[in-house]
Amino acid sequence: MTVARSFSAGDTRRHVVVIGAGAVGSATAVEALRAGLRVTVVEPGEPGGPQATSYGNAGWLSSHSVVPPALPGAWRKVPGWLADPLGPLALRWRYLPRATPWLLRYLASGWTEARVQRTADAPALHAQLAAEAGVPQLIEQRGLLHAYRSREEFEGDALGWRVRGRVGIRWEEWNDDELRRREPDLHARYTLGIFVPEAGHCRNPGAYVAALARHARDAGAERIAARATGFRIEGGRLRAVRTEAGEIACDAAAVCAGARSGPLAAAAGSPVPLESERGYHVVVEDATAGPRTPTMVADGKLIAHWMDGGLRAAGQVEIGGLEAAPDWRRAEILHRHLQSMFPGLATVAPSVPSPSVKHWLGHRPSMPDGLPCIGPAAASADIVLAFGHGHVGLCGSARTGRVAAQLLAGATPEIATTPFDPRRFS
Ligand SMILES: Cc1cc2nc3c(=O)[nH]c(=O)nc-3n(C[C@H](O)[C@H](O)[C@H](O)COP(=O)(O)OP(=O)(O)OC[C@H]3O[C@@H](n4cnc5c(N)ncnc54)[C@H](O)[C@@H]3O)c2cc1C
Repeated sequence: MTVARSFSAGDTRRHVVVIGAGAVGSATAVEALRAGLRVTVVEPGEPGGPQATSYGNAGWLSSHSVVPPALPGAWRKVPGWLADPLGPLALRWRYLPRATPWLLRYLASGWTEARVQRTADAPALHAQLAAEAGVPQLIEQRGLLHAYRSREEFEGDALGWRVRGRVGIRWEEWNDDELRRREPDLHARYTLGIFVPEAGHCRNPGAYVAALARHARDAGAERIAARATGFRIEGGRLRAVRTEAGEIACDAAAVCAGARSGPLAAAAGSPVPLESERGYHVVVEDATAGPRTPTMVADGKLIAHWMDGGLRAAGQVEIGGLEAAPDWRRAEILHRHLQSMFPGLATVAPSVPSPSVKHWLGHRPSMPDGLPCIGPAAASADIVLAFGHGHVGLCGSARTGRVAAQLLAGATPEIATTPFDPRRFS
């Protein structure tokens, strides 16, 4: 399964512009080349660089992440979210008027099985893409662990686990002894482990995306370092993508700009309720203790695991828009929690700037119903929207790339895209 070769003058292939080179855009570029299309990627930053959410995530590749954060009854927690600016899910007061319509839809949404269909074979798809891009070592299949302090705490998540069970996700239960044996560094307050063997993990999401972008370039994709600003559409046909560096004439385009896709979707006739769920990470480069398995803890709502650069803890949800300055206290909370999970970690004060501790803020591109937008735009079917993957965009990117490329090529997508239709919000 090789990607098509480079193009030259007189190239008659259908020319598609992929806007954004995060996980979704880079996978789309690779798949579009494979589908025989000529590809130009428009991205102002380095593909997979820290400006992309794909750079700093927790690296989980698992269909068991099907459960959206807003389970039924989540609305009862809103007063607490407003009152506690440093809780795992926080709303910035000043941004509340803008976020309210999105929040109301978010709180009203439940889980859906379509999300599972999208992610079920994600580890295998990513392993294949990574091998093709020359970085097979970045995708690991080690399973994932949820650590709980008690059975009561686990039962507090019962709805989520029922949903997972119903859609065929299997797990093992580790009792206290087994948890100690498997995770000797983990704090003794965790007494119950739920281990999901099928799950995968990416040990350097930024490097993985960069490798996909390089792979696309080697196969002939052109890269324009600019920001896309809109489209030239004539009689329902796309003629060009407008960028800060001028127009790029093309036959089709994919909007894969993550949390910044909203204005482009609107310019393509499809305004959608896209919001940033801001998240943070901390990387402790010289960590001396940590998990054997990528681990999520219910008490801190964070995921911790070793990445190429050190021990990373990623999490937090903050509704505050794309432009507000980072609140690094959130990364410090992650750091403090990491230290409390693994008492063997050197106890450097989390707020002390240190060359070996890195902080990062990213923007999950989130739709209120927890499903991405994948499908043609209203103003022209030549424009394919492919964004909005929220908490599972790394995981979902491999499948989305294939489906977006099929839509760009005018082929029937390999999965039903109706649940993801951008028109569901109109
Ligand atoms: C803390 C945290 C933990 C997470 N953990 C996980 C996890 O474990 N597993 C998982 O699957 N997902 C996880 N996610 C979610 C995942 O990271 C995102 O869903 C995913 O990275 C989105 O990918 P994307 O390609 O759509 O967007 P991005 O990675 O943000 O890429 C979009 C790209 O578009 C570019 N761009 C923006 N505007 C323009 C424009 N106008 N023109 C051209 N280019 C533009 C940007 O520069 C960027 O490079 C996590 C997210 C966070 C914040």
